[in-house]
Amino acid sequence: MIYDTIIIGSGPAGLTAAIYAQRSEIKTVVLEKAPMSGGQVINTYEVDNYPGTPGISGFDLSMQFREHTEKLGTVFVNGEVKKFHIEDDIKVLTLEDGEEYRAKTIIIATGGVPRHLNVEGEEKYSGLGISYCATCDGAFFKNKVAAVVGGGDVAVEDAIFLSRVCKKVYIIHRRDEFRASKGNVSKLKAQANIEFVLDSVVEKINGNDIVDSIEIKNVKNEQTTTLDVDGVFIAVGYIPNTAIYKEIINTDEAGYIIADETCETNIPGVFAAGDVRTKKLRQIVTATADGASAVTAVEHYLNTL
Ligand SMILES: Cc1cc2nc3c(=O)[nH]c(=O)nc-3n(C[C@H](O)[C@H](O)[C@H](O)COP(=O)(O)OP(=O)(O)OC[C@H]3O[C@@H](n4cnc5c(N)ncnc54)[C@H](O)[C@@H]3O)c2cc1C
Repeated sequence: MIYDTIIIGSGPAGLTAAIYAQRSEIKTVVLEKAPMSGGQVINTYEVDNYPGTPGISGFDLSMQFREHTEKLGTVFVNGEVKKFHIEDDIKVLTLEDGEEYRAKTIIIATGGVPRHLNVEGEEKYSGLGISYCATCDGAFFKNKVAAVVGGGDVAVEDAIFLSRVCKKVYIIHRRDEFRASKGNVSKLKAQANIEFVLDSVVEKINGNDIVDSIEIKNVKNEQTTTLDVDGVFIAVGYIPNTAIYKEIINTDEAGYIIADETCETNIPGVFAAGDVRTKKLRQIVTATADGASAVTAVEHYLNTL
């Protein structure tokens, strides 16, 4: 069978694409490697910035998205896409069991995962004071003390953002200079409530029920210090799930599929939606917007065949 489109991934982008595809009567299947839909959202304790659902748990929001798509008749297959190639303009996806799925178009909505520090306490306090997304969770730390870990633009922007919400912000970076743009670093230096902790790495995150301190080591003099903090924002990079597409589809140096808000890639009939594509803001609302845009682009493409 040749589908009109195959959606890979059932996070916010993939599930929204499925809703739009069903309503457009596009013959679609969704391939999802996880046992449940929702992507990164499913493990999010609280989502307080998706319109119309203040304070909803990530699990409940994921279930609402999934139920909505199921109500419209979306077909889901549980399996991990392991290979991708193109035969005479038909896109062929192979699952881990060798089964092949073919379509005139595909929507890659495979998201990604934040890079971890892999230090003691990180797993235990994830969602209990540790966050990988200042835009998502910063508001929960109003008038508290937070630490941001990282030295790139995301870390620096997170620290500036948090300095407006928090009483005090530490920015911890393993080198003595930031990788972030000069403009961002100037803004960072202008914030009176941000303290720089340079040449330092986090060794351990402590707490009881929630985070209460972090242990850091200065890599130059080997001295260890403990900082009392309420929250730790880890911004040391993000790994997009694009490895199997890289040989065919253009990606940037960080691995994101190069596409704008039309979701079109360099390959006709291949679209990228959500966190997996190049963009400034990776949130549920921008991922769902992409899901809708990608299907519109699929419809235009199918009309040209
Ligand atoms: C801890 C945390 C908290 C967050 N909190 C918020 C918040 O409060 N508000 C907000 O707006 N945003 C929040 N975000 C960001 C938000 O979760 C993402 O922007 C959003 O989930 C992106 O959706 P997506 O559909 O593009 O990708 P994802 O959510 O990453 O979904 C991708 C899906 O693709 C599947 N997949 C991947 N590879 C394959 C494959 N090879 N084969 C089959 N399936 C595959 C995955 O299993 C997953 O289900 C948070 C992120 C994190 C990490």
